[in-house]
Amino acid sequence: MKKATRQQTRAHNTRLILKTIYYGREISRADIARATGLTRATVSDAVAQLINDGLVAEVGLGPSRGGKPPILLDMAENSRYLIGIDLADIEFRGALVNLRGEIRHRFSLPIDGRNGENALDLVYELIDKLVSYADSPLLGIGIGTPGLIDAKKGIVRNAVNLSWHDLSLRDLLEERYDFPVYVANDSQVAALAEFTFGDSKEISNLIVIKIGRGIGAGIILNRQLYFGENFGAGELGHVVTVEDGQLCRCGHYGCLETVTSSQAIVTRAQDIAKNSSRSALHRFFTRPEEIDIDVVSKALMDGDEELHKIVDEAGRYLGMAVANLVSILNIQYIVIAGSAASFGQALLDPIKREVNRRSLTALADETNIQMTSLGPDIVTLGAAALLLTQELGLP
Ligand SMILES: [Zn+2]
Repeated sequence: MKKATRQQTRAHNTRLILKTIYYGREISRADIARATGLTRATVSDAVAQLINDGLVAEVGLGPSRGGKPPILLDMAENSRYLIGIDLADIEFRGALVNLRGEIRHRFSLPIDGRNGENALDLVYELIDKLVSYADSPLLGIGIGTPGLIDAKKGIVRNAVNLSWHDLSLRDLLEERYDFPVYVANDSQVAALAEFTFGDSKEISNLIVIKIGRGIGAGIILNRQLYFGENFGAGELGHVVTVEDGQLCRCGHYGCLETVTSSQAIVTRAQDIAKNSSRSALHRFFTRPEEIDIDVVSKALMDGDEELHKIVDEAGRYLGMAVANLVSILNIQYIVIAGSAASFGQALLDPIKREVNRRSLTALADETNIQMTSLGPDIVTLGAAALLLTQELGLP
């Protein structure tokens, strides 16, 4: 192994110190030295640099332990903004996010069927707008997008919905904006959001399953996002779950996506509305085509029995996939995200039931399955978290 140069060692120490301040929140130089095992002089030098860069600030005095009270340090959370972008199904969403994951501004632009070059122009429009609103220096841009993404090279290998194939999105954006840019799959960055800013903060192993138009899982293993050999880890939506099921957009029959995606649930709700005049759905729309995931959620809350059965079945199929994941990886924290997360307990119950039924009791008992608390911002925040991880080594 090559010996680290002095510069590399210094960069490594500075990252370690920044991370300690990020987690420590109001921590003294002496306590940083204790926590990291670095010398006081090394800590003082690095802290001086971080204060000079504006990333860290002195925020007050701590309790005295006999001598002079120590000066406390904290991350200057608004000293940099992160641009997080979610290239979602119906609209492109973007936000300016501070270093603690708080959204300062958010915008969205409807896609209206744009694809190819036109969709790319819409991405530029969204980022231009975010850049114009930034009142702190920008650290860079993170992007979460559906499809198969080479996160190392920032290339969209295949995003069917946008007709993007082998698009060098990172290079295009870096050239245009002159900031560091990172691109990854939306479900994968959703897992980073949960790990960095969500309720599952600092949990070393977890899986986030995002259910929208498609279904994907983001996997955090040993505090790292696991991409898979060719960046395809977590492509749950196209595992065939129903024998002789419906034709999927991927060309196979009976994929999980054909029974559990938000689109599959909406389509079945539309059928109910057409066939049953007593359905609670009729209270929330006039024409069945107007039914979307929000209408389904409202009617479900209103106690529509038929709808409850559909969501229960969707959860049952998803539960089969979750049972397999739990058995293979023995990961204890499973988080459900995406538009279908609004179904709440009606979706969670059948998932838990199937996991109990289909995996070893010892594994199922220690598995914790819950809804994300990050709501519709999860991919935007995840894209920002990707940038934060890559640029500053946080968390
Ligand atoms: Zn499929």
